[in-house]
Amino acid sequence: MTQNNRRKFLKSIAGLSGLAISAAPALVSAGSSKAGARVQDIRLSRNKGYVRLVFDLDGIADHSIFALHNPERVVLDIKRTQMPHGMVDQVQANSLIRGIRSGVRNDKDLRVVFDLSKEVSPRSFLLAPSGSSGHRLVIDLRNKKGRAERVKSASKRDVIIAIDAGHGGKDPGATGRSGTHEKNVTLQIAKRLEKDINAQRGMKAVLIRKNDRYMRLRDRIHKARDHHADMMISLHADSFPDPRARGSSIYALSVDGASSETARMLAEKENAADILFGDVNLAVDDQMVKEVLFDLSLTGTIESSLDIGSEILGQLKSVNRVHKKKVQQAGFAVLKAPNIPSVLLETAFISNPREERNLRSSSHQKKVAKAITRGVNKYFSRKAPPGTWLASAVCDYMVCSGDTVATIANYHDVGESDLRTRNGLYADNLLAGQVLKIPVS
Ligand SMILES: [Zn+2]
Repeated sequence: MTQNNRRKFLKSIAGLSGLAISAAPALVSAGSSKAGARVQDIRLSRNKGYVRLVFDLDGIADHSIFALHNPERVVLDIKRTQMPHGMVDQVQANSLIRGIRSGVRNDKDLRVVFDLSKEVSPRSFLLAPSGSSGHRLVIDLRNKKGRAERVKSASKRDVIIAIDAGHGGKDPGATGRSGTHEKNVTLQIAKRLEKDINAQRGMKAVLIRKNDRYMRLRDRIHKARDHHADMMISLHADSFPDPRARGSSIYALSVDGASSETARMLAEKENAADILFGDVNLAVDDQMVKEVLFDLSLTGTIESSLDIGSEILGQLKSVNRVHKKKVQQAGFAVLKAPNIPSVLLETAFISNPREERNLRSSSHQKKVAKAITRGVNKYFSRKAPPGTWLASAVCDYMVCSGDTVATIANYHDVGESDLRTRNGLYADNLLAGQVLKIPVS
């Protein structure tokens, strides 16, 4: 910066306080940094609808960004940060950025001013170090008109969740003291769950049965498989002779005794079913069942099922007492879908008069469905299958103190619910330094 430029710059800084700050982007401030940072490089890229500037930093820095009008400028303040002399001169002017000036404020803070040819909506976020890249501060200067041009990620598929309402038709399941049939409450909850899941971006529900009809367990599995389900949730209601028994429980398939037998199982593929489920009354001469069981042992489907189960159980705690604290394991036939992580949920005891009332109550059914959806979401936010929207391109955003889900969504021009879905985020207490996945486009 020349002496003349510096003088002009200091003058422009002096005049800033009296000017209106653009209403669109609020101030961002990053997690607190103790030591000062240093700008190591500035890179510029032009994209459709916006210009991106990446500041490579050697540490985390607090920053804020805002727009000023007449003439159009964007001001970036980075606290306790230094920048080598002349670095901004490396950035070439273009049709949007006419010039960049920098200066020191309060003896220790860096201020960068972008002189622009037109009004933009600026946004900024920090990227945590990853791979060969260190801390990065990303500034996007988006054309005001360009904001609306959002590319639809139509090519990314949804994760498919098969919802299996237990029993049906001639099989009523368990019946409560007031005459409530399990098959009816499971179908009602299934339909509410279907609605909640379909309201989540990137997820699609498939109802295994849509009405009061009898279905064989194997047909339920076939249907889930035909729909390429990524997960299957079988809904039931528990029953016990003692009416005091209460609470929710979740089951995944059992592989008791399988681990020690893995080697033998590999050698004796034909006998896999016997080894895995010797204690379960199962038609092991069925070729499909054999293949299914063998698949299960190889793919970690059961581990995924346990993972899903504990996420759902964790959410159900807020809705209902939990009968067993951990995901239980058993040999329920409906859990034996090939390569589809599956859980069986005993939502409550229909044999308990209070829980029977709950099972019939629409408000309680809604709460149960919402809790399951949150659990499913939390699981897929970590383990989204490749090729799905939930696994699609994201950038990592480091939460700054003072951020809320709403402000972050606004910054990145993404829907608040999309942001929650992508991150399995249901609480509002974000922690500074927490890294969120921001859907790209
Ligand atoms: Zn049942």
